[in-house]
Amino acid sequence: MTQTINNKKNINRFICPGCSLYCDDIQIILSENNEIVETYGLCLKGYKKVNEITSKNRIKKPLIRENGELKKVSFDEALNKVKEIIISSQKPLLYGFVNTTCEAQINGIRLAKKINGFIDSNASICHGQTYSNVIESGLNSTTLNECINKADVFIFWGSNAAESHPKFLTRTIFSRGKFRITGREIKTLILIDPRETATYGVAGARDLYIPLKPGKDLELIQFLKDMILKEKSEVPADGFVGIDKQDLNRLILNLKGSENGVILFGQGVINSNPNGNVIKALIELVELINKTSKRSRFSIIPMTGHNMNGFIQVSLSLLGKMGQIEFSNNQLVEPKKDLISKIKDDEFDLSIIVASDPISNLPITLSSKLAKKPIIAIDCFISPTTRLADVVLPVAIAGIETDGLVYRMDNIPMNLQKLIAPPANLSSDEQILEKIIQKMEE
Ligand code: SF4
Repeated sequence: MTQTINNKKNINRFICPGCSLYCDDIQIILSENNEIVETYGLCLKGYKKVNEITSKNRIKKPLIRENGELKKVSFDEALNKVKEIIISSQKPLLYGFVNTTCEAQINGIRLAKKINGFIDSNASICHGQTYSNVIESGLNSTTLNECINKADVFIFWGSNAAESHPKFLTRTIFSRGKFRITGREIKTLILIDPRETATYGVAGARDLYIPLKPGKDLELIQFLKDMILKEKSEVPADGFVGIDKQDLNRLILNLKGSENGVILFGQGVINSNPNGNVIKALIELVELINKTSKRSRFSIIPMTGHNMNGFIQVSLSLLGKMGQIEFSNNQLVEPKKDLISKIKDDEFDLSIIVASDPISNLPITLSSKLAKKPIIAIDCFISPTTRLADVVLPVAIAGIETDGLVYRMDNIPMNLQKLIAPPANLSSDEQILEKIIQKMEE
């Protein structure tokens, strides 16, 4: 809702696109020149995100590489170069698509189909394995609103919410909710993590910290499943996997006795258990609690990043797949390799990177492979990926300079609202991808 008072625009309930929490309680005041005068409700991460509009790293003109240097060109010249590079490619790879909208993700898949490419999002190296398990076994999940209103136990397993989703704690643990007259005082925080992260800093006397060693998650989950099945838990006197008896007893008590508990797991679990078994085991643990306990009900929320869930929703609804999408003769085919193997084995000859910086984010063994082949980068800012690209197409910032649909971490769709117009009349990711599709049809 926008009101104008004293020539200043007051925007209420702006949705912050800074992380997959997509907080919708933000107030922003803009001057008559559309400069941000004041903000209310943003965390530091969200504040930085919104202030990207004034970033010195902003790319406003298309760039193409000539004689080893990136040079400013007109949009038509850049688009012609994009077409020339794509036409000479046999195995294009499209990657990224998380820090953007579902509309752009749809156009990314359309482009991949048109140019017979392989497309995947950052989800495949993050929570992709989570959703592969969900397809097989389902998931007892919940929404943020249920967490706010009903949850009494929050287990952060390998996830550092205070830094990855900074307002998660204030919105859930430190709030009262509709159905409780009590708040933080009846909410228990359990942290299962080898490190004392920033989230550990908010733990109080009633909370519990389990310093689980990396790679021991599966053993602990199996132990908890055994204990849940027993009428009376018999925890060994010297504890289990380095956790002392008293802490284990408290953990089991909370699993068996919470009214409405939620396990929020993050990258820590995925990184220390790359084969995905631990996610399956966590899902089974929650099912077992819900089946056997007379009192307790538990749910799981994967702490995903940005619009990762959007890419999964889009690819599932369009193609019945959750990523790793490959086309041949403009038809969907079953890929022989996943994203990582394709890059590792040089099974691509061009990468089209949208709203992502894989040269910084992927391990050097993979980013060095990307760097050796042509790169078309669609991005708002200078990054190691755009610095190495052959063509850079600048775009508007999704969710600040464009509207668009995203899926929150609990899979609730949210409509991001444009705050201001982009500089230099820049197009959105969705529009740029549409223009490339049209160019390929000429
Ligand atoms: S928690 Fe995430 S969505 Fe909420 S204000 Fe911070 S960055 Fe933005």
